Amino acid sequence: MKIIMLGAPGAGKGTQAKMIAAQYGIPHISTGDMFRANIKNGTKLGEEAKSYMDQGLLVPDELTVRILLDRVARDDCQNGYVLDGFPRTIPQAEVLDQALTKQGDAIDFAIDIEVQDEAIVKRMSGRRACPSCGATYHIEHVPPKEEGVCDVCKSKLVLRDDDKPETVEKRLRVYHEQTQPLIDYYAARNILQKVDGDVSTQEVFQAILAILG
Ligand code: AMP
Repeated sequence: MKIIMLGAPGAGKGTQAKMIAAQYGIPHISTGDMFRANIKNGTKLGEEAKSYMDQGLLVPDELTVRILLDRVARDDCQNGYVLDGFPRTIPQAEVLDQALTKQGDAIDFAIDIEVQDEAIVKRMSGRRACPSCGATYHIEHVPPKEEGVCDVCKSKLVLRDDDKPETVEKRLRVYHEQTQPLIDYYAARNILQKVDGDVSTQEVFQAILAILG
């Protein structure tokens, strides 16, 4: 099963994608996580991506498509995957479709998690991330056991640069301009499914399970 998660930054794509991946035994693939891993490892790709990410801008399609196509070509993707944060532009979606069509394959579901902008801004300012292991928390909804400390590796939690309020507003603008058109793109292909993202994590997940079957 090949699934794409759509929705504004902070709509809960990552959380739901991880739950779907665990439920169906397929890899969770996040281009944001891949860029952050490259930044942490000090690669050239990471250095280039960081300059865009810190400003709330999208990383250029050429770079993004390259790392994504490499990743989905790996053996663990043979039974499918759930994509979180890719595609974010129409050209990215087209490249993915072309690559899949070549293999006689296609995306099965594009799930759009709907949340209003005001709720997004509120959510993201409460997000905290572990710079060492990548675990994510929320000061209200998913607090760590000890305030400001990662449950998994005990590192000090941070507000990611790209979760800061001014960056979030920019990311929402970028989302509406560049990513939202994908909703019509997948609707036209009859694989779009919408879920209300303004309910609990479990309720969103149940709605998604009902779609995926
Ligand atoms: P995320 O963790 O998915 O919210 O992504 C964090 C940041 O990584 C985004 O704000 C972008 O700068 C960059 N990024 C992640 N995925 C993509 C993508 N598919 N296309 C362009 N930039 C991306």
